[in-house]
Amino acid sequence: MAEGTAVNVGPIILLGPPGAGKGTQAKRIAERYGIPQISTGDILRSNVQRGSELGLQAKAIMARGELVPDDLVCNMVAARLREADCVPGFILDGFPRTAAQAGWLDAFLEHEFFDNLHADKCLPIVIRIDVDYNRLLQRLTGRRTCLANGHIYNVYSQPPRVADVCDVDGSQLVTRNDDREEVIRERLKAYDLQTRPVAEYYQQKGRLVSVNGDLPVEQVTGQMYWVIEHHGAVEGMSPFYGG
Ligand code: ADP
Ligand code: AMP
Repeated sequence: MAEGTAVNVGPIILLGPPGAGKGTQAKRIAERYGIPQISTGDILRSNVQRGSELGLQAKAIMARGELVPDDLVCNMVAARLREADCVPGFILDGFPRTAAQAGWLDAFLEHEFFDNLHADKCLPIVIRIDVDYNRLLQRLTGRRTCLANGHIYNVYSQPPRVADVCDVDGSQLVTRNDDREEVIRERLKAYDLQTRPVAEYYQQKGRLVSVNGDLPVEQVTGQMYWVIEHHGAVEGMSPFYGG
């Protein structure tokens, strides 16, 4: 398939703990299928940076590694999904993160998105990236992000060619404010308590597919392409390893 060809893939949802590789994979999927990547973390960080009303409400919560309240995040996602570029499909990275957000998203897609935007009614493809818990801390403390466009690097596994400089746009690479060990622990706790039930929510509906996120980036991407292009054949099962 030619890179960037817009395909009606419908909604794709990436689940997985902080550091699993959601952002890394979402960018590659967005490029291949010509659909927008919607990262709630990125949108919230941009609001914090601009000092918007939402940013002011979210700033301290994010700095503590806790989840921003559902109503704020759902309104933000609704506004983004109403934009025309989402009609052929979109990839959500970091949302839904609570069972309430998952229920809200299903209702929004059913009652507003498919109806009003004349989008084809495709059930979301839900992919969970599974990573050994012990790797997450190293992935997060080693993460560096480019200031201009959010390109993602890792000082251990995916270093830039020149230290602290983005290969793609030459901008400075920074460590995210919440990628500090004490905040990471809070974020992993929030994942365990609030986000694990989201995977159960989709599993009960037979929509969850897991991929092995411990592999190198390209191999994880390969599994994702397979899932997306064989959607329907794989719902409810994990074709890559037991579980
Ligand atoms: P998330 O969006 O799930 O928090 P990221 O995509 O930002 O995760 O990835 C977290 C860190 O792990 C980044 O530094 C990224 O470069 C690195 N990373 C992502 N996928 C892999 C992988 N398959 N193997 C090794 N490192 C990875
Ligand atoms: P991320 O970039 O996905 O790691 O998210 C960074 C932070 O943004 C999280 O620790 C939360 O504080 C907040 N956040 C992102 N997405 C959500 C969401 N769906 N619900 C609540 N808070 C979120």
